[in-house]
Amino acid sequence: MKQRYNKYSDYLKNLFGAGIRKIPVNAGFTCPNRDGSKGTGGCTYCNNVSFNPFYGIKKKSVVEQLNNGIEFYSKRYSVSGFLVYFQAYTNTYDEPEELKKIYSEVLEFPRVLGIIIGTRPDCISEYLLEYFSKLSKRKYVSIEYGIESSHDRTLEYVNRCHTYSDTISAISQTAEYGLHVGAHVILGLPGETDEMIIQTADRIAELPVNSIKIHQLQIIKQTVMAKQFAEHPESFRSFTVDQYVDLVVEFLEHLRPDIVIERFISESPLKYVLHPRWNGVRTYDFAKLVQKRMEEKNSWQGKLFKSV
Ligand code: SF4
Repeated sequence: MKQRYNKYSDYLKNLFGAGIRKIPVNAGFTCPNRDGSKGTGGCTYCNNVSFNPFYGIKKKSVVEQLNNGIEFYSKRYSVSGFLVYFQAYTNTYDEPEELKKIYSEVLEFPRVLGIIIGTRPDCISEYLLEYFSKLSKRKYVSIEYGIESSHDRTLEYVNRCHTYSDTISAISQTAEYGLHVGAHVILGLPGETDEMIIQTADRIAELPVNSIKIHQLQIIKQTVMAKQFAEHPESFRSFTVDQYVDLVVEFLEHLRPDIVIERFISESPLKYVLHPRWNGVRTYDFAKLVQKRMEEKNSWQGKLFKSV
């Protein structure tokens, strides 16, 4: 069967061979959108607790979390190496020397092949990029930016406190340093039509992005968005799994064919999710639905990509 999109698992396999696992860690950072330097209260959809696995709760040191993650995966799977994913909050938001100390600590682990740093487009510096670029000569380094949308109106509405032009500069600069650029987008943010979402795919396709994570908007309990949803449910779109599959397929058609697709859905634990509650749909099932729909439509990633 022909693979219709660039799978992340194939990318990892080509790069490192089989048996690579990602271990998410929480280094206990905050973000400028919470501590008042850019905003307070955070992005309206953010409740970071729902993004982290049990061993990534910051009651333990990063080293402890990593040890637990290694033990967890080693017991269940045949593993040849690990990538440490700095996932929670903004993982470049501290003093550079402190950051370097934290990154170096995990890279000393024998089977750790590299790091993935989740951050915001307005939280990266030339100094860090230079450091990451040197590091990438001996370890895998990926910088993953939360883009979320290419529409400033949406970014403002969800209180991201950065603009799409910040995204363009951060991603261009990161690529100039020869680093792997990851991207994260959310489909279905309030006020966005399908056309706007596809416009984001077209815009991302023009950037030097190497891989992307696509997530459906999830309304998580105890967030500003949960309150907005309770007050004005009509302002939020509601996708069935089938409708979301169609949207994802269209999004993929507009992306550049070489971009690696890391995932299609977010899987926050159901106890945190208010909407949509697609009970039981896992990442793996969803990927199969996307592949099937692409076959039915004779669709493929990049089918409608137009370079300008
Ligand atoms: S989503 Fe990221 S940038 Fe937004 S408040 Fe949460 S941690 Fe901060």
